[in-house]
Amino acid sequence: MFNKRITIKDLLASEQTNYQATVMGWVRTFRNNQFIALNDGSTNNNIQVVAELGKFDDNLLKRLTTGACIKATGEVIPSLGKGQKVELKADAIEILGDSDAEKFPLQPKKHSLEFLREVAHLRFRTNTFGAVFRVRHSLAFAIHKFFNDKGFVYLHTPIITASDAEGAGEMFRVTTLPVDGTAPKNDDGSINFKEDFFGRSTNLTVSGQLEGELAAMAFSNIYTFGPTFRAENSNTTRHLAEFWMIEPEVAFNDLEDNMNLAEEFIKYVIRHAMENNKEDLEFLAQRLEEEEKQKPQAERSELGLIDKLNFVVNNEFQRLTYTEAIDILRESNHNKKKKFQYLVDKWGVDLQSEHERYLVEKHFKKPVILTDYPAEIKAFYMRLNENCEPGRQTVAAMDILAPGIGEIVGGSQREERMERLLKRMEEMHIPAEELWWYLDTRRFGSCPHAGFGLGFERLVQFVTGMGNIRDVIPFPRYPKSAEF
Ligand code: ATP
Ligand code: MN
Repeated sequence: MFNKRITIKDLLASEQTNYQATVMGWVRTFRNNQFIALNDGSTNNNIQVVAELGKFDDNLLKRLTTGACIKATGEVIPSLGKGQKVELKADAIEILGDSDAEKFPLQPKKHSLEFLREVAHLRFRTNTFGAVFRVRHSLAFAIHKFFNDKGFVYLHTPIITASDAEGAGEMFRVTTLPVDGTAPKNDDGSINFKEDFFGRSTNLTVSGQLEGELAAMAFSNIYTFGPTFRAENSNTTRHLAEFWMIEPEVAFNDLEDNMNLAEEFIKYVIRHAMENNKEDLEFLAQRLEEEEKQKPQAERSELGLIDKLNFVVNNEFQRLTYTEAIDILRESNHNKKKKFQYLVDKWGVDLQSEHERYLVEKHFKKPVILTDYPAEIKAFYMRLNENCEPGRQTVAAMDILAPGIGEIVGGSQREERMERLLKRMEEMHIPAEELWWYLDTRRFGSCPHAGFGLGFERLVQFVTGMGNIRDVIPFPRYPKSAEF
C-alpha cells in the first residue's frame, strides 16, 4: 500500500507532536534550501516540511521546485516559525513528479484572475481557487442535505430535450447530421430532422422544470441539480453558456410557500458553508477586502464578506410586488436624475439589472423577493393572478435578487388550470401538441404547485465574493471559450 499519508488539514489540526508521519502534496515554495511549503488541497494552509541543511543530496534539493509533487516522511514537531503550530522534520523526501520551474506557469506571487483563467487546468493549485472550489463543493453537499432531510426526491432530468417551448434562452442544437451542407432536406429546403439521430430536432436543456413538474405530480416534492445550457451571447460577469441549476418543484405549494422554501434554502446552505468552510471564507474575505481597496470609495461595498453573509442569514428578505418596486424606482432620485441607462416610466416594463441592483444595494440593502410580475414579460406556465387591476394582469412569479449579483432565483406558482394554461399558450404561440405530456398533468389529477430555479454559480459567487462567474466553475464555457 502506497498511500499511508495524513492529509495536511488533519496534520495541522492535531495538537499532537513527536510522532512519525507521511505527507504528499505539491510544493508551493522552497525557501533557503531548507523550508518547503507543501499543499495537498485539503486546506489552504501549507505544512512546513523542513529539509535540514546537509541532510539531503544537492540533486534532490534542486528538484524541489514550485509545482513539484513530493512525498515526505519524518517527525511532526512543534514549529518555531509563526503561523503554524507544527511542522514536519523530514527524514526522507521522494520526488513523485518533477516540475520544470522555467516552464511552470504559476509563480509564487499574485497572478491576475484573467491570467489564471488561461491556465484553468492549474489554477486549482492557487489559494484563491482552492478556497473557491472547496466552498463550491460544500454548497453542493448542503443542497443535497437540505432537500434530502426534507424528504425531497432528487430527480435527474434529461440533458438532451426536444421541447423548445420554454423560451428560457437560446439553445444549443444536438445533432448527428453532417454540417457540410449534405444533411437531408425537406421539399422546402429546410433540414429534415426526421433523419436525425432522435428522429426529430433536439437541443441541450435550458431548464429541467417541465420534467420536474411531472415528477412533482407523483412524489409531491422533487428537486433537480444538474447542468443547463444557454447559447446566449452575453459577455457578462453573471452569465455562462453552461451552468448548474437547482430546481425544486413542490405539489400543494402556493407562491408564499415557494418564497418561504427558497429563503429557508438559501439561508441553510450559506450557514452550512460558514460552519464548514471558516478558513476558506476568511481567506476569501481577505482577498475581497484587498480587491475592494483598489476601487474608488463610492464603489466599495459597505460590508465585508463574512458580515454580508451573516447579515443575509440573520435577516428576513424584503418581499414586495413588482408594482411596488416600479413605484419605488420611478420615484427614486436615481430615476429623476436620469442615472439609469433605462429610465423607469410605465408599469409593464421588464426590470434591468441596474434596477434590480438599485433596489437591493441602494434602497433596501438586503436580499429582495419581487413578486407578481406582469404576465406579458413572464413564461407561459406561471399562474395568472385573480382580481388584477384592469390592464394590469400579473402572474404569481417571484424573483430573488441578491446584493452584487442581481437575480439569483427565478420561480413561480404554476398554472394548474387547464383552460387558462391552454389559452395562455395560444396567446404566446406555444404549440400545445408538442407539450401533450406536460398538459397531461393538468388532465389527470392537477393540483396547485410551485417551484423555482436557483443558478448554482450565482450562489457560489455570492458566498465566495468572486466578481466574475467564470471564476466559480472549474472549466467555464462562454462565447469563444471552451478550452480544457
Ligand atoms: P437573467 O435575467 O439573469 O439572465 P433569467 O431570467 O434568464 O436570468 P431564469 O431563466 O429564471 O433566469 O433561470 C433561473 C436562474 O438561473 C436565474 O435566477 C439565475 O440564477 C440562473 N441563470 C440564468 N441564466 C444563467 C446563465 N447564463 N449563467 C448562469 N446562471 C444563470
Ligand atoms: Mn437570461
